[in-house]
Amino acid sequence: TAAAAEPIKVLVLGAPGVGKSDMRYTHSVTLDGARTGVEILDSCRCIATGCLFDHLRWGDAFLVVYSVCERSSFQAARGFLETLSQEKLPGYFTTVLLGNKRDIEHARQVDTEDGHELSLAYGCPFYEVSAAESATGVALAFHTLLKEARSLQLL
Ligand code: GDP
Ligand code: MG
Repeated sequence: TAAAAEPIKVLVLGAPGVGKSDMRYTHSVTLDGARTGVEILDSCRCIATGCLFDHLRWGDAFLVVYSVCERSSFQAARGFLETLSQEKLPGYFTTVLLGNKRDIEHARQVDTEDGHELSLAYGCPFYEVSAAESATGVALAFHTLLKEARSLQLL
């Protein structure tokens, strides 16, 4: 096993209530044979206290979460992606877009296609998941994000 790498700092961005607190993930993962620490910060409070920009600078990787049952959270996700694209230099940032609560199909307000289109506009991977029903989708999203962040660390 290679030497431990720098921890990857993940900022989870999303409107209140989209399910960010259910986005648990193991805090140490093996990427390409190297043990890698992960620090995860939920943006929720910092938006209220106005320190979002400090946290954007802090982060190496960004998980932008919305709820497929709440249109306004999708607009908020678009806002976060736009802010990231303006704040993070050099114009490339490691981000994954996550539509959560896909289990509540009867109350869906955001089509899968809309999420897909938004992710294409900002060039990031996109997954629809249910953090409540299964940890698999969330784990896959984190793994994609961390692998990309790790490859940037190695540059
Ligand atoms: P946060 O404000 O983004 O941290 O949102 P929370 O993690 O507190 O989640 C808000 C509510 O949504 C809680 O009642 C969660 O149990 C619920 N929730 C989170 N993920 C899911 C999901 O995938 N499906 C459903 N049905 N509920 C979820
Ligand atoms: Mg929370």
